Amino acid sequence: MGKWIVLGVGFCFLIVIAIPLITVWGYGFSIKPPEDGLSLSDHTVKVFVVSLNQILDMPLEEYIEGVVAAEMPASFGIEALKAQAVAARTFALKRMPVSGGSGCGNHPGADICTDHRHCQAWISQDELRERIGNVNYRRYSQKIRDAVESTRGLVMTYEGNLIEACYHSASGGATDNAEEVWPGAVPYLRGVSTEFEAKEPDFREENSFTMDDLEKKLGVVVRKKTSSVYTVAGKSVQVISEGRMDKPIEILEASKAGRVNRIRIGDKIFSGYDLRTLLGLSSTKMTYRVAGDKVYITTTGRGHGVGMSQYGANVMASAGKNFSEILSHYYLGVSIEKHEKDGSK
Ligand SMILES: [Zn+2]
Repeated sequence: MGKWIVLGVGFCFLIVIAIPLITVWGYGFSIKPPEDGLSLSDHTVKVFVVSLNQILDMPLEEYIEGVVAAEMPASFGIEALKAQAVAARTFALKRMPVSGGSGCGNHPGADICTDHRHCQAWISQDELRERIGNVNYRRYSQKIRDAVESTRGLVMTYEGNLIEACYHSASGGATDNAEEVWPGAVPYLRGVSTEFEAKEPDFREENSFTMDDLEKKLGVVVRKKTSSVYTVAGKSVQVISEGRMDKPIEILEASKAGRVNRIRIGDKIFSGYDLRTLLGLSSTKMTYRVAGDKVYITTTGRGHGVGMSQYGANVMASAGKNFSEILSHYYLGVSIEKHEKDGSK
């Protein structure tokens, strides 16, 4: 996820309003517990593992360890890892039928899948060891376990219901209201300032495309044909010349944070989300310039830009914020509740 730069001094976190709204309840809950009397943390999750093409049953908290390992570098601050664990647990429980969810829509019979584009990423302990090497594995696997164990059963709720705890890699300076990215407003998914992330060069990418690239990848026409008729030796000759449009690209609608909602490329209009997918861009927060036969698209941040920014969570953790403060910054007005029958006793 890129290099880490500590921006320790001069942060101004806009959480004056949000912090008093957060509560951490060790006992009691406003969410209906499962009728079988088990705490939700004792339940197994039916996880469709994409790399195995099969459903595996695993204890919820063990599954959350694999999600934290896959979704966030273990070198991040412990409070960021804890915030990730609570977000991942909430995200999973929201989908699990045992807590009222409808499961993973892409894989019948599964509560959730490991496709990060659909549900959330997950890796096994073996995959983690392979990914970070034996030395780092010894160092970090316990840290991940600690982050999950110390937040065991904690979930985020809004008005007593589990929230849609969506998160993304890096916001590039501001997150967006949910309705600016997907249909429908969500009261706790509101755009917040994350200026402390804005200057990080790792999350700024310039992509260049020739007009040919755009026509092939997007199925658009960015050139215009002009026909001229000349008289040569007494005969009329039609000459068709090809040039690019005066404005081959135009942003039609963007969110306050600068994420593109609608954009015209040549003769077609795309949503920012579709353009990001088709061109393999990191983010829909983009600017462009046209020079000669090329279009340069510069993106800032990574991911959809709604909910918690993982990179921002790490910046906040390094500045001394705890996981509750991190979560309350990105999810407005939520409560953090112990979602277990016997609380922390
Ligand atoms: Zn899924």
